[in-house]
Amino acid sequence: MLHVDLHVHTIYSGDSLITPKILVDALHANSFLKTVAITDHNTLEGYRYVSKLATAYEDILVLPGIEAATPRGEIIIIGTEERPPRPATPEELVEFAEQRNAVTIIPHPYRAPSGLGDYAKHLRPTAIEVYNPTAMPILNRIALRLAKEMNLPQIAASDAHHIKDLGAAYTKIDAAQNMDEILKAIKNGKVQPVQNPKT
Ligand SMILES: [Zn+2]
Repeated sequence: MLHVDLHVHTIYSGDSLITPKILVDALHANSFLKTVAITDHNTLEGYRYVSKLATAYEDILVLPGIEAATPRGEIIIIGTEERPPRPATPEELVEFAEQRNAVTIIPHPYRAPSGLGDYAKHLRPTAIEVYNPTAMPILNRIALRLAKEMNLPQIAASDAHHIKDLGAAYTKIDAAQNMDEILKAIKNGKVQPVQNPKT
């Protein structure tokens, strides 16, 4: 089982303190978390720096991702190095990802103001983030209900903006440490959300 943090921000997000070097050093030092998706706000620049630094370590895998804003709320796309169009509607982002074999995750669906809320029900995302430590417990519970109602795979992720939060929640994925395998496993629901691993 692979342990993957699918939602991590670097300084290129503008609201995170995590530099590429701090992140790669932390992954190197971490014994169980070696795979992350960089999901900066509307940019893949941080991903490019992190993945470049990570090439020095055979056991670290960095997935390209983005947390893209739409007028309705945010959508995470993982699995393509291409930047989605902006502005874009949620529907356009889901289609953009599908065309590239990437996955879409609805992050913190009920956290204001950037969650898509019930609008997610109009979309066909790959998965729902059912646990995000930055969202209130009640909002995470409603997110879990949404995933069950939509019958979609459940993701947990840290949404880390400080390095101490890396891996504060993560997803167990039944896949080899390889991007195509990981994307396929998410699509097939071979995932298990893990909350509060340290407690
Ligand atoms: Zn985020």
